[in-house]
Amino acid sequence: SLEVRGLRKSWGPINVLKGVDFDIHAGGFLTLLGPSGCGKSTALKLISGLESVTAGQILLNGQDVTSKAASDRNIGMVFQNYALFPHMSVAENITYGLKVRKVAKSTQQASLKRVAELMALSPLLDRKPAQLSGGQQQRVALARVLVSERPIVLMDEPLSNLDAKLRVEIRSEIRALNKQLGITVLYVTHDQSEALSMSDTVVLMNKGQVAQIGAPKDLYDRPANTFAASFIGTPP
Ligand code: ATP
Ligand code: MG
Repeated sequence: SLEVRGLRKSWGPINVLKGVDFDIHAGGFLTLLGPSGCGKSTALKLISGLESVTAGQILLNGQDVTSKAASDRNIGMVFQNYALFPHMSVAENITYGLKVRKVAKSTQQASLKRVAELMALSPLLDRKPAQLSGGQQQRVALARVLVSERPIVLMDEPLSNLDAKLRVEIRSEIRALNKQLGITVLYVTHDQSEALSMSDTVVLMNKGQVAQIGAPKDLYDRPANTFAASFIGTPP
């Protein structure tokens, strides 16, 4: 489980997160939804440990990890900008984390094969990231986190560069990983239809604060305020 308590972040005088609270039970799928600049990526950076919090607490399975290094949190992350290693092949990018953890070569290859098939990357394994489209790079980033088999994965707009068909396919792959493998997912998007169709719980954010938390149906049927009504109510 993940519990976020009173999470705040300031960059100098600017308060980007003004006290955000939410919980995800183990195996749950929670989405941070909101307009550009509302603080979604910042929240993920604090939870993954890439940036330090200004105030608040992050609990993983009941344990306070707020001041732990990113590498000690056992959290997987898919970034908005992919962050692939440019000098490594697709295959090396996908298995890099397994190599670092000294996972047996045969296990690495088996995981690579399974995930590459899932993400339709099998023909591209020898290419470098610069030789891929944006959508292909995004699938490599997803594949890399999937092979790492973390209990919780944070995903920052992982589908934003994909065409409509692939977007729907990978949506259901992500859902399957969540539901079948029990991986806890904290997902970020500014796309309300994506949030409403994929999530158990949606945290709607506005200007660094939570505007509403609920099941997709609750947000759709009973928006708590005018912001929620206008943001959710816009037809997809
Ligand atoms: P988007 O949907 O466009 O990705 P977001 O909700 O992920 O938006 P954030 O990236 O969290 O938004 O940014 C929230 C605010 O914090 C923005 O106003 C941004 O300019 C500011 N911000 C983010 N990172 C920094 C930084 N390192 N230094 C100063 N300001 C920052
Ligand atoms: Mg962002």
